[in-house]
Amino acid sequence: MKQHISFYGLPGLNAALKKHQFSWQSVLFMTLAGAITLFVTLAHPPAYAYDVLIAPSGPRQGDTVSIISSESRGSAHVPAVSINGTGHPTFAVGNGRYRTFLPTSPLHPSGEYIIRVAGPEGPRNPMVWLSDRSFRTQRITLPPSRSNLGTDYEFDQVAAFKTILSPDKLWNGPLLRPSQGSVSSEYGVRRYYNGVFAEDYYHRGVDYAAATGSPVIAPAMGKVALVGRVADGFELHGNTVGLDHGQGVESIFIHLNSINVQPGEIVQAGQVIGTVGSTGASTGPHLHWGLYVNGVAVDPNPWRHGSFE
Ligand SMILES: [Zn+2]
Repeated sequence: MKQHISFYGLPGLNAALKKHQFSWQSVLFMTLAGAITLFVTLAHPPAYAYDVLIAPSGPRQGDTVSIISSESRGSAHVPAVSINGTGHPTFAVGNGRYRTFLPTSPLHPSGEYIIRVAGPEGPRNPMVWLSDRSFRTQRITLPPSRSNLGTDYEFDQVAAFKTILSPDKLWNGPLLRPSQGSVSSEYGVRRYYNGVFAEDYYHRGVDYAAATGSPVIAPAMGKVALVGRVADGFELHGNTVGLDHGQGVESIFIHLNSINVQPGEIVQAGQVIGTVGSTGASTGPHLHWGLYVNGVAVDPNPWRHGSFE
């Protein structure tokens, strides 16, 4: 019999573990594996069409929350999933299962996020609690001439890239490190510009310091969905490549020295897509890798060290 665990009563989980006398090794294994499975059941009516599985169970700002809705009777009906009242893209992942991402960032308020999964037998309304996370802050002094770099052309191209939602999932397993350079600026760093806290700013990616001309590889299979060059107006981003990994997951690589790929090309994980440079608004050679989910720049770390099926 399938064990249903109340999402609201984690002490109930402890009791359930004791009752079934699972060994501490198996409990530890389950914890280490990160296989935290929460089947949410409401008391009545007796049968709902979807089971909802949320991971990770305790997300922090910057995490990507994966919500899997499983249809118990194998219907091909894609559930309508909304989070705090806003519809979110949902894609089939096989065997009557559907996945919705809740991408989060330092700009997402901590607290409760209500997920509504509407199926043929009525909606399910589990919730997830997003925790605060402290991000490093930097103080930057900019001359006025440096604060308005960028062309409409590049902003439009990049904005369009971030809205891509392709149904086919191309990534598989943990993402690869795109540069062998050391991390020079981590995800989520906040800034004061000329002493004023930039409310909307956070570092939307990871920077790797590496020599000009060193390789940049695709972290996962993807379709080249954006190629921008300084000569065409990419004065802020510099030479840029954008990869569409499918289902709302995209990578952007900026400040490149050279670009090795063509728009529309499919690249494999590990394939060299360009080289590190310092083009655009950059003070020295480095790679900036931004990972976007449904248009939100998320922390790539959980994608590097874990995997999203
Ligand atoms: Zn950066």
